[in-house]
Amino acid sequence: MPRMGFFTDTSVCIGCKACEVACKEWNAIPSDGALDLTGESFDNTSELGANSWRHVAFIEKSVPSQDASAPDGVRWLMASDVCKHCTHAACLDVCPTGALFRTEFDTVVVQQDVCNGCGYCVSACPYGVIDQRKDDGRVFKCTMCYDRIGVGQEPACAKACPTKSIQFGELDDLRARAQERVDALHEQGLADARLYGDSPDDGVGGTGAFFLLMDEPETYGLPPDPVVCSRDLPQMWRQAAIAAGTLLAGLAATFLGRRGQRGE
Ligand code: SF4
Ligand code: SF4
Repeated sequence: MPRMGFFTDTSVCIGCKACEVACKEWNAIPSDGALDLTGESFDNTSELGANSWRHVAFIEKSVPSQDASAPDGVRWLMASDVCKHCTHAACLDVCPTGALFRTEFDTVVVQQDVCNGCGYCVSACPYGVIDQRKDDGRVFKCTMCYDRIGVGQEPACAKACPTKSIQFGELDDLRARAQERVDALHEQGLADARLYGDSPDDGVGGTGAFFLLMDEPETYGLPPDPVVCSRDLPQMWRQAAIAAGTLLAGLAATFLGRRGQRGE
């Protein structure tokens, strides 16, 4: 089974939030409360959370005026964020109950009936994605519509996106398509266009949901160099085993040496 993923091309996002709505509707996600605007332009959820599995960020960036007599301009950046379905997923590594599992599509999904609400995964996720629902403590996040892709349908957000900013498909195909798109943007003079999460050599081994950004990752609230906290665990266990073995060998040598001195 090929690895499936999301390619979110923020250069064509129009901020309509159809993806957020489709996600909420298909997955029967409860409301986040009153539909108050946060004061951060047209954003009313602010971030991903247990009840926001897609979040469309609206970023206003000041653009210095070329003309000293004119005020600075504003540039809008819009981007639909989601769980990254990491290659090395810290949430999955630290879960003590096996509630998080890797599917046959290489995505990461939570089984709510196995989650005990310990919250270890929340602090382990390098992107701050996975979150506990306040009224029951269990964690919730994007499943890449596991139930839909299992029957050959695309996830609800990708289906609803009118500009194809969200594309779903085989990860290798998406990566090739994304590289072509970046090259085309560079040819148009948009030198800041870049891919985020597409490299298998990054700190999480690449992500199953990656992005084309039009500015630095920090501008979108994304970590520039995410690292999976559990990446060094095998090496740590190996070193601990070597240290324990050395200690035992030292104790045995001391014990045998003393017996030898007493002539036993
Ligand atoms: S982004 Fe966070 S919640 Fe999603 S798979 Fe990676 S570690 Fe897990
Ligand atoms: S549906 Fe597509 S265009 Fe609309 S906000 Fe989501 S990603 Fe952007």
